[in-house]
Order: sequence, then C-alpha cells, then structure tokens
Amino acid sequence: MNEYQNIWNKLLTILKEELDETTYKDCFSNSTEVYKFENNYIYVKTPTVLVSYRIQQFYLPKIKELLPMVTDLNVGFKFVDEKTVKETESNKPSASGLIVEPDGLEKITRTIPSIYNFENFVAGESNRYAWIMAMNVAKDGPKVCNPLYIFGDVGLGKTHLMTAIGNYVLDNNINAKVVYIGAQKFAEDYFLATSSRGSDEKIKDFYNKYRNIDFLLIDDIQLLEGKTATQEEFFKVFEDLVNKNKQIVITSDRPVTELKNIMQRLKSRFSWGVVAEIKSPDEALRFDILKRKLSFLITDPNDVPDAVLHTLARLFDTNIRDMEGALRTFVNYCVCMNCPFTEENLFTALEKVIPQKKGGEDASKTIINLAKQEICDYYKITIKEIESDSRKKNIAYARQMLMYILRTDYNISLQLIGDNLGNRDHTTISHGIDKITEMIKSEDLTKQDYAKISKKIADSK
Ligand code: ADP
Ligand code: MG
Repeated sequence: MNEYQNIWNKLLTILKEELDETTYKDCFSNSTEVYKFENNYIYVKTPTVLVSYRIQQFYLPKIKELLPMVTDLNVGFKFVDEKTVKETESNKPSASGLIVEPDGLEKITRTIPSIYNFENFVAGESNRYAWIMAMNVAKDGPKVCNPLYIFGDVGLGKTHLMTAIGNYVLDNNINAKVVYIGAQKFAEDYFLATSSRGSDEKIKDFYNKYRNIDFLLIDDIQLLEGKTATQEEFFKVFEDLVNKNKQIVITSDRPVTELKNIMQRLKSRFSWGVVAEIKSPDEALRFDILKRKLSFLITDPNDVPDAVLHTLARLFDTNIRDMEGALRTFVNYCVCMNCPFTEENLFTALEKVIPQKKGGEDASKTIINLAKQEICDYYKITIKEIESDSRKKNIAYARQMLMYILRTDYNISLQLIGDNLGNRDHTTISHGIDKITEMIKSEDLTKQDYAKISKKIADSK
C-alpha cells in the first residue's frame, strides 16, 4: 500500500504546484489518503461526494497527464468520499452509491498521457514553428531532424507538443516503442539503479529501457543541470539512439545556450537538430485555446459568452496552464453552484486566483488613484463626486467605468475597488462592471470611451 500512497503523495506535490491555491485546497488538501488498491486502481478517500465529483469531472485528465512523471505503473484512480468508504467497509449498501469511476483510465495502455494530441493543440504565431516541426518529426522521424529541441516558458505547451508526438506515433504504429520520461525521473531512476543493492541488475534494467526504442521523449532537460553522473548516462543513451537513427525529442524551459552546468558535449548535441521556441501566446491565441478547452469541459461551449472568455484571456497573459486552471475553476464554480456563466460569476469564482499585477496592494493603490484621476479629468467631475453616493447619471457612469477598468485592465479585487470607492460592497462593484461590459458590447460611444481612457491610464503609468 505504501507504494501507492507514495505515488499519490508525489502527485499531490505536483498538483499543489500546478493548480491554483483555492482549487488545491478545495479538492486535494483533504484527499490525501490512499485506502486500498484493487484491480489496478488506487482508491483515494475524499471528504465529500462533491469533492469526488469535482476531481473526477475536472482534474482526472491532469492526474493522468502527471502519472508517468512519478511512476512507470499503469494504474487508475477512484475517488470515494469518506462516508461511502465507511459504509462499504462495514458492508452496508452505500447511501450515496457514488463511487466515482475514472474516465477512461482503465484503458491506459501507454505510459504517456494520451490526452494531448495535435488535434487539441491550437496553433498561432507564437508556437507555429514548434508545432509544425513536432508534426513533421511525428510523421517522418529522424529524417526531419534529430534531436528536436523545444524550449519556452513554463505552461506554454511543451509537454503537450512532446506527448502529441508520442501519441501520434503510437496511433499510427502500435508496435512503435516510445518512451516519455521527465528528466527528473530519469535522474531518479538512475540514482535508484546505482545506489541500491544488486545494482548490476538494476543498471541493466535501466539501460534496457532505452535500448530498443524508436522515440525518446525527454521532458524538462534543464532538470539535469548539475547532475554530472546522470548527464554522463544520458549522453550514452543519446549517442546510442542517434547512432541507431532513433528519434530524440527534448524540451527545456530555456535555450540550449542558457543551460548551466550541463556538459558542453551534451549541449552541442542538443543543437544538432532543430531548436524551436514556443513564445508567449497573444490574446487571440489565448482566446482560441480557451474556446477549445471549453469544448472538453461542457456540452455546449456557447453557453459561455465570448466576452467572458475574452476577459479571461486578458487576465492570464503569460501561462496557459494557469489560464486553463482558471477556466476550470470558473466552470466548476458555475456548475456546482448552478449559476450562469457571467462575467460577475467569473470574478467571484476567481477572486483568489487571478494574478494580482506585480507589487501587491501598494501597486494596486497607485493604479486606483491614477485611474481615478484620469477618469475624473476625462468626464470633468471631481474625485469627491466619483467617491460619493451621487446617482447623477454622468457621475454614476464614470464611477462604473472606473470599476470596469480597475477590474479588467488591472485585476484589482472587487473588495479593494469597493474600499477605495466610498466603501461600496463587492456586489455593487460587480454590478457596475457588468453594466459597462454590456454597454461596451452594444454602444460604440462606451467602447470608444473605454479604449481612450484605458490607453490614457496605461500611458501615464
Ligand atoms: P509546459 O510543458 O510548456 O510547461 P504544458 O504542455 O504542460 O506546458 O501545457 C500547459 C497546459 O496548457 C496544458 O493543459 C496544455 O494542454 C495547454 N496548452 C498549452 N499550449 C496550448 C495550445 N497551443 N493549445 C492547446 N492547449 C495548450
Ligand atoms: Mg512541461
């Protein structure tokens, strides 16, 4: 059992890093105990049926994706709430009867996450070259280039593209031998092989894993930095495969030249083939990705208005993983609370998740004051008036525009906006934001006002 608890602990550690704080807390912080292993399933105890449902509904693909990073075992997961566990253990029929079945996990036959493929990768300016090279390599292997080295910041789709290669190869040739491994796990495997007793056998196993393969996909190579002995071994594996004309694909969070403490001969090998960068996606691509992801989350993606997706795309401008997490949190919230997919609910669901722009509260206050001043100048009203209770049309409108800009352009929390606008509560602020959101859609004048003021504030920062 320890082994399975270990696997789950490792997954929890990664999930904690990858998911936003609220999601992790809600779903995983009390779902830590593995209570049985049966028919190739790891059973995890959760506090409530709702948590089981949420994990099953929204996070199983993630868990499936991470599994090969922590183990070679092909296992599935079941999430069962405490009450059902107790009842099942005492042989009583389950009250809720809900044992959450893993979605398709029983069919795992590969050790790479099967959820990523070329079809669900959305291409745009920032990733097109890497995407095309990855597809070419998947189709034609080392004829195209060897190795393919893909680099880019965290959360931009490197693992997705790399595993898409593996899945494509396996989909087209079930006999192909594809190994996908994180560099960290490669190092751990090597360490275990050399540090345990009977290490000759273990070392042999270690090498055998890489001997007769067609594709080696090694993820996050920067994690070999400073691990000289492991680098030596990797070098041997690399040379052996290249000599046999087998394909190697590498990902990294930085260009080859910026890898530190990686031996020079490895670095020079990495640059032999094609080096493709994935850059930060622009807003249009982020929107397209959200649209695509949505189609996997809910039956009718049109239930979520495009305007709401645009806002989300604007809020998360650096990391697709975070943006996707926010989308899931939002959908999750609306589904569980049975409320519509509005901008207001988006902000409520994300209140704690949205990245506050650099500098925390002080920076937010500076922006608030600056925006207040610019808006008052623009509409020719005073700061006192914008903060007051006045319901005069022009003042109320300027106030709502201020709320909207602070929220959508600068991610300032509803609470903080309210505190700085005559202590209004957050529902008033969300109402104001919704009003401008609607007007921007339907009235050109409001749209122009917004564009002009938003630019003025950005320019005067
Ligand atoms: P990295 O390995 O670069 O840190 P991942 O490949 O794990 O990033 O991607 C993070 C998340 O973002 C994944 O869920 C992935 O599907 C998604 N993603 C990134 N880029 C794209 C894209 N162009 N199209 C669709 N999904 C994407
Ligand atoms: Mg990755």
